[in-house]
Amino acid sequence: MSFIEFKNICKKYAGNDKNSVTDFNLDIEEKEFIAFVGPSGCGKSTTLRMIAGFEEITSGDLFIDGKRVNEVAPADRGISMVFQNYALYPHMTVEKNISYGLKNMKVPAHEIKKKVDWAIDILGLQEFRYRKPKNLSGGQRQRVALGRAIVKNQKVFLMDEPLSNLDAKLRVSMRTEISKLHREMGATTIYVTHDQVEAMTMADRIVIMKEGVIQQVGKPMELYDHPVNKFVAGFIGSPQMNFFDVTLKGNEVTFEDGNKLMLPEAILKKLNGKEGEMTLGIRGEDLKMDAQNLELYKENKMKAVITDTEVMGNENNLYFQFGGCQAVARVSKYEICQVGDEIEFVFMPSKIHFFDKETEMNYL
Ligand code: ADP
Repeated sequence: MSFIEFKNICKKYAGNDKNSVTDFNLDIEEKEFIAFVGPSGCGKSTTLRMIAGFEEITSGDLFIDGKRVNEVAPADRGISMVFQNYALYPHMTVEKNISYGLKNMKVPAHEIKKKVDWAIDILGLQEFRYRKPKNLSGGQRQRVALGRAIVKNQKVFLMDEPLSNLDAKLRVSMRTEISKLHREMGATTIYVTHDQVEAMTMADRIVIMKEGVIQQVGKPMELYDHPVNKFVAGFIGSPQMNFFDVTLKGNEVTFEDGNKLMLPEAILKKLNGKEGEMTLGIRGEDLKMDAQNLELYKENKMKAVITDTEVMGNENNLYFQFGGCQAVARVSKYEICQVGDEIEFVFMPSKIHFFDKETEMNYL
């Protein structure tokens, strides 16, 4: 049995006519770091709150460490939790904020001191130990909230958008800190975020949700390279995957603007005779304009005019009209282009995806 098991979990809030979570099935192994990701309103927090015991489970079964916990009180589930809007006690020092929960749990004083010292050390809060929250930065306060949760030393650690109140730079450094914390603590962690970058950079596995339904569960690169549908393909990765409406006949793909692309045998084999209207997807980094790839795929060279550029420092995003859509190519910083330049580019054939027009499922 896995450490946490969700069996056909559904949640319908009183007064809503639709489920907020439908048929959620998932096994989580001990010590795993799992991210729930998806757009706002897709049911991530509801699912997390059902694990914590703050929301009743409408139907289905939830097991933690082999025990069915549907009716177990939150305090008895062996869980600690950090929210986006953590509230620190304003009149207490960092040290007191962190130790408060342990006192309530009647942990002996010497044990509390040991745990608080450990948390303060691991979170780099030594010099703020005797400060009150109003004299701390946002990042430091968030670390105190993490400290308060980790000293409880529970087996399951739940985090709901813990970084969304922080500025961009701090979010990046806190991502590394949370990953490090997870490695050192080894608690099974479930992390809710709408930010695919957070999910990609921290999680062992990602659960991507849409309208209360799991779309795909997998390691970050599995979702990136093999999205099961157009939703996952579009949600994971930035800039977003390029999508083109195309028609496939034989080995010939026709774009809306009349451009044509010949498919190699390997892709046709995987398409297994499928033809007609479909959506072609390709990531920006798989549109190539370097000399080597232009030579390699010269029979399928495309032309376009740059309409916009984003200089990122390490790479450039080049925007252009192609196939009736705006497309973006991610190229190296050495491939410099200006708005108005005509470029030649090729599609990396092995990186092309085809999605069903109706179901949006990935054919390949
Ligand atoms: P997410 O965390 O992915 O943003 P939520 O789990 O908060 O999504 O919400 C999922 C759906 O459930 C949304 O449609 C939301 O409006 C609805 N919902 C959330 N909380 C409640 C509630 N207390 N009562 C009624 N509907 C709710």
